[in-house]
Amino acid sequence: MTTTYAIALGSNRPGRHGTPADEVRAAVAALGDGVRGVSAIITTAPLGPSIRAFANAVVLVESAMAPPAMLRHLKAIERAFGRRRGRRWGARVIDLDIVLWSGGRWRSAGLVVPHAGYATRDFVLRPLEQVAGAWRAPGTGRRVRHLAHMVDRRRPRP
Ligand code: AMP
Repeated sequence: MTTTYAIALGSNRPGRHGTPADEVRAAVAALGDGVRGVSAIITTAPLGPSIRAFANAVVLVESAMAPPAMLRHLKAIERAFGRRRGRRWGARVIDLDIVLWSGGRWRSAGLVVPHAGYATRDFVLRPLEQVAGAWRAPGTGRRVRHLAHMVDRRRPRP
């Protein structure tokens, strides 16, 4: 049976594909044929001198894989991206998380879906809203677009 996953992508390190945004684009390509929707890539400015800017996006992926198999697939992509040129054990340049799954909730060793904490992270909710605004988040009864607007309202205004 085919199910749909919302996968969050994040990068704050350049890698062999280029800037963090290039890494996100390359990871979307690596996710392959099942990709059904791609948000814009948003950039979160660095907060301090030692913290790099993040590029974040969310994609919808159709797959017959069960969540643990999908997580293994994501980890394999992370590993393939994560070693920077000249460094055998470089830091990961891409982070891939399962945010939502059309099958609802999943809990097994090392895997919790929906992803813990996504509902308060605007860098996940803003791109998620672009591809899955009408999706009802399990446990909350609310649509993604509603969660995104709630986080928006909490953000301090200048
Ligand atoms: P992080 O490095 O912060 O992305 O954490 C990655 C670890 O979180 C993975 O090795 C997973 O075992 C675990 N994890 C738990 N739930 C999820 C999820 N929904 N999506 C991705 N990783 C998850």
